Amino acid sequence: MRWSEAALLAAAISLPSMAQAPAAPAARFVVVLDAAHGGDDTGGHSGNWTEKAFTLALSVRLRSLLQARGIEVVTTREQDETLAAEQRDAIANHAQAQACLSLHASLSGSGVHLFVSSLAPVQPARFVPWKTAQATAVARSLGLAGVLNSALGQAGLNVTLGRTALPVVDSMTCPAVAVEVAPDPGSGVTATESLNDAGYQAKVAQALAGALLEWRQDGLGESVHDVSRKGARAP
Ligand SMILES: [Zn+2]
Repeated sequence: MRWSEAALLAAAISLPSMAQAPAAPAARFVVVLDAAHGGDDTGGHSGNWTEKAFTLALSVRLRSLLQARGIEVVTTREQDETLAAEQRDAIANHAQAQACLSLHASLSGSGVHLFVSSLAPVQPARFVPWKTAQATAVARSLGLAGVLNSALGQAGLNVTLGRTALPVVDSMTCPAVAVEVAPDPGSGVTATESLNDAGYQAKVAQALAGALLEWRQDGLGESVHDVSRKGARAP
């Protein structure tokens, strides 16, 4: 082992400074659901409404919809607990998922806001810096956001797309999108009443589940390597 390799290996072992890039995908399809906030971190709040409870409820709802369709789901939390960004990313990256959704909610704005990491894309490598691991997947994340956008739009939901720096998403090695649910603009009720509405929550969850089924169907979650291999012809 050359010195540089030894140094790389040492750096890789001392997580979370480095993230291991996903291995060649097997024939499994895994979705990671990250219910943002929790425990000491309530996220947004107003009256009895808290973002941390909303994201957990949405994660549970979406998990059931996906599992009912045979999709393996890994969640970062199943209860009201405090989780560091590194813990969320360790769970997500260990799962080697084909899609990761970080779930948020907002009392302002309307409909569903989708955010993809603002990192510039880089070629996949065996080991990538933990803080910018998402750079290897950002092209596929944009594809995932596109599929989510059209499914939510078809469900009659208002969608806005954006790029931003997101510490949790930026360290994920999977195609990842932050999904921020804002009130239904047509509901004619207050922001918290809209977000508490079970019908609205179900509509959002069903559209997200439909998009993930499409993502699986089209094999879009596969790595760049596999996509190129499919297109390669015998010499
Ligand atoms: Zn949030």
